[in-house]
Amino acid sequence: MASEQQVKEYLAYWFQLGKKVLLHNGREIILPQPVFEGDRYSAKFENCWQKILAREGKNCYLEGTNQTIEQLLAPTWDVTSCARCGMPVPTIDLGMQPLSCPCDDLNNWPNCELPRPRSAVNSQAHLGRIQNRLSQNRES
Ligand SMILES: [Zn+2]
Repeated sequence: MASEQQVKEYLAYWFQLGKKVLLHNGREIILPQPVFEGDRYSAKFENCWQKILAREGKNCYLEGTNQTIEQLLAPTWDVTSCARCGMPVPTIDLGMQPLSCPCDDLNNWPNCELPRPRSAVNSQAHLGRIQNRLSQNRES
């Protein structure tokens, strides 16, 4: 199960690559820009996140994915790193690899020349967490 914080980061990362979030099964489409103001999430991003939380993620999903935010916050799903690009992706929590990553339809991604999407919170701790998880996955 992904924590709210993880799901929030997941959206923030993909927003930085121009992916949108679809609400009400696509009747409302949001791409908050900018994602950050200084070191914090922008008011626009926070507004968008509150909208999603207000409906518990029901019928809200990231463009290019089939998993609703509601599913990501439920026990069967988790958010892990894509093996190809390292971006956070929905994973079914059975120790399986992600079925697909939203990066599938980005032609210019991964791209080492672009700045990596980042998180507003302490990114060093975040990276540490990803590394921990990767090593755990390898051991199991
Ligand atoms: Zn990917």
